[in-house]
Amino acid sequence: MIKIQNYINGTFIDSLSNNTLDNINPATGEIINTFPNSNNKDIDLAVKSAKKAFPLWKSLTVKKRSEILKNIAYEIKENAEKLAVSESLDTGKPEWLSRKMDISRSIDNFIYFANAIKQYSSNFNSMDEIAFNYTLRQPIGVVGCISPWNLPLYLLTWKIAPALVTGNTVVAKPSELTPYTAFLLARICKKINLPDGVLNIVHGIGQNAGDPLVKHKDVKVITFTGGTKTGKIIAKKSASELKKVSLELGGKNPNIIFDDADIDLAVNTSIKSSFLNQGQICLCGSRILVQDSIYDDFKNRFLIKTKNMRTGDPKDKKSDLGSVISKAHLDKILTFIKKAKLDGGKVLCGGKQITYKNKFKNGFFIHPTIIEGLSMKSDVNQKEIFGPVVTLTSFKDEKELVKLANDSKYGLSASIFTKNIKRAHRVASLIEAGTIWINTWMLRDLSVPFGGMKESGIGREGGESSFNFFTEPKNVCVKL
Ligand code: NAD
Repeated sequence: MIKIQNYINGTFIDSLSNNTLDNINPATGEIINTFPNSNNKDIDLAVKSAKKAFPLWKSLTVKKRSEILKNIAYEIKENAEKLAVSESLDTGKPEWLSRKMDISRSIDNFIYFANAIKQYSSNFNSMDEIAFNYTLRQPIGVVGCISPWNLPLYLLTWKIAPALVTGNTVVAKPSELTPYTAFLLARICKKINLPDGVLNIVHGIGQNAGDPLVKHKDVKVITFTGGTKTGKIIAKKSASELKKVSLELGGKNPNIIFDDADIDLAVNTSIKSSFLNQGQICLCGSRILVQDSIYDDFKNRFLIKTKNMRTGDPKDKKSDLGSVISKAHLDKILTFIKKAKLDGGKVLCGGKQITYKNKFKNGFFIHPTIIEGLSMKSDVNQKEIFGPVVTLTSFKDEKELVKLANDSKYGLSASIFTKNIKRAHRVASLIEAGTIWINTWMLRDLSVPFGGMKESGIGREGGESSFNFFTEPKNVCVKL
């Protein structure tokens, strides 16, 4: 069995306390490997190593750093199959999805930022014949990257790539539920001779390893993706040290279907936006809002397709869904379904754990679930479930729709299905969310600003927004 280790200063080491934790495959309940249960001492060692590596790394040319990132991307590509299988073992998601989404996007993250940095230019302001100003964008120092379990390598590399290419050094703390591919990434970095200390990966649980990273005085920037509750804790702790913070948090996204929508497109896309990755994507459209005149038609078609979905063996190409991440998470999802019934909701399909008699008998599987008849005030419509559970609600007109869509503390994303172009733009401007998709879902251009409004986050990452976040602007005024 592989023993995952921390990657600090170019060396693979156990936690200083020698404590380890078991890493569970949620589809079988089996132990896949063990990983370090790190604490503040391991974090301190990693930060020291990142701090030491910073002067040399920032002094490299952009071209050199960009080449190194491309080497990492190339090696991920070479090891794509092993990474995809490992990601699936760690998360319970279907292997085909790991290949198609997680690993291919991780490669794209490195390639995109390695290329985009070359187009990143700074401002120039003329004061006529008196003076001119130009703005330097310089790396900040040691960046702390904290990431979640739902898209482990995809979201870790989304942070690491722009932080590194702009000249910062990194200490990353992946989710304790999914440490495997971060460890494999460290091996790749070692293989391509990434200078020691430039990237350090420390494994462990949030309170023990994440918290000291956030509080460390030599970590100047924190980029966090995870739950809103954790995000608020991190915001508070970083504020006392005036750290630069980016928070990509939870969502409860509306998926809006107007009566003039292409119904096949709306149904097929809603299947994905509801259940892809077992509904464990922050961008999933968990509140489906359908105009009343097509409500029954949409519901019937959506229900038939959902009932035909297959949940099971992550290795089987025919499995649409695998297992959810853990027993605790499955229990949370089932509690929400119970609550839905108490609140007067009707479970149209799913709603139950799936139990197997084979090797998946200890796995955490649940049928995709559709619920209707709930008020927007129900917890099931207000709180993030983060599983394969969606609600259906009808609306009369645009005015009611906007009210329902915005009746949420979250503001991450929304999808709008309509053939009326004016309506699409009008509603897009009225919905409170950081990303609006029209007649699509999760179509991502890595150069656009990505992030959430309200309790879905602070700041934007992606393209220039990432480069701005990971650099400090310095204005130079030259008197003529
Ligand atoms: P989580 O907040 O429990 O954990 C995220 C990370 O934070 C983990 O690495 C964890 O160990 C660490 N952590 C926990 N407590 C900490 C603390 N006190 N100090 C420092 N670090 C700490 O979230 P999760 O359950 O892993 O992920 C699911 C959540 O992530 C969902 O809410 C989902 O919407 C959100 N998410 C958001 C986006 C986005 O881009 N907005 C993307 C993916 C997931």
